[in-house]
Amino acid sequence: MAYILRATAANGDIRLFAAITTDMVEEARRIHNLSPTASAALGRFMTVASMMGTMLKGERDTITLSLNGGGSIGNMVAVSNPKGNVKAYVSNPGADLPLNEKGKLDVGRIVGVNGFLNVVKDLGLKEPYVGQVPLRTGEIGDDIAYYFTVSEQVPSAVVLGVLVDTDISIKAAGGLIIQMMPGANEFLADIITFRLQEIPPLSTLIAEGKSGEEILNMLFDDMDLKIYEKIDCRYECDCSRERVERALIALGKEELQRLHDEEESIQLECHFCDKKYKFTKEEIKKLIDK
Ligand SMILES: [Zn+2]
Repeated sequence: MAYILRATAANGDIRLFAAITTDMVEEARRIHNLSPTASAALGRFMTVASMMGTMLKGERDTITLSLNGGGSIGNMVAVSNPKGNVKAYVSNPGADLPLNEKGKLDVGRIVGVNGFLNVVKDLGLKEPYVGQVPLRTGEIGDDIAYYFTVSEQVPSAVVLGVLVDTDISIKAAGGLIIQMMPGANEFLADIITFRLQEIPPLSTLIAEGKSGEEILNMLFDDMDLKIYEKIDCRYECDCSRERVERALIALGKEELQRLHDEEESIQLECHFCDKKYKFTKEEIKKLIDK
């Protein structure tokens, strides 16, 4: 089970999202066979994508986060929707690094900072919304906070945590997005920064069994906290044979003809869920005729 809480505090001056995504990240780890450091990196990325998905308004809207900071993990992509469901992949799931000097999984270094974070929102309009910011630390949370503040002009704090167990399964994963609404008292941001430094790491709290409600209460119980929605979410891929066919058709007649002439059959694999789609010579011929 994974879920997102939506809440407000300080009479609506603060907008809050809290996510518990342990099972969702474990599912991604299992599908992609992620190393511990890759689990932490993609887990943080998926968790924030899931929360950002629930900010979308239209039922069919999607948000795609991608980045490549030049680190050994390569490309990371996470796609989410208003239900907070996520699919994600990395180009090098086996990439791994020794722990950093703080004894933590070295997400910043496996991601790198020589590149950009891209945010594409498909809101069903002619053109998608596209935002891009340079990577700051590669730790994901800081990079997303920078995106919100600079690109969407919403000052935000983003806390993301993934704890990998000794057997490399995911012990805890989750996140918080804390956003200042226009006109909010500027002291609020300082109070929140102070409180975030006071509490134990988010992944520790989740591993101890704290719920999203309890974590929000630890931070905002004296600030008129109102939790108004709980959204169950999961890892979900929406690939289908029809989609794969459309992608093949998009290759063009010549390329399909070449595949038809040179191959007995072709097999395509979905990046997001590793599902395999096989096409025989006859089936490729049918696509050419389409
Ligand atoms: Zn798939």
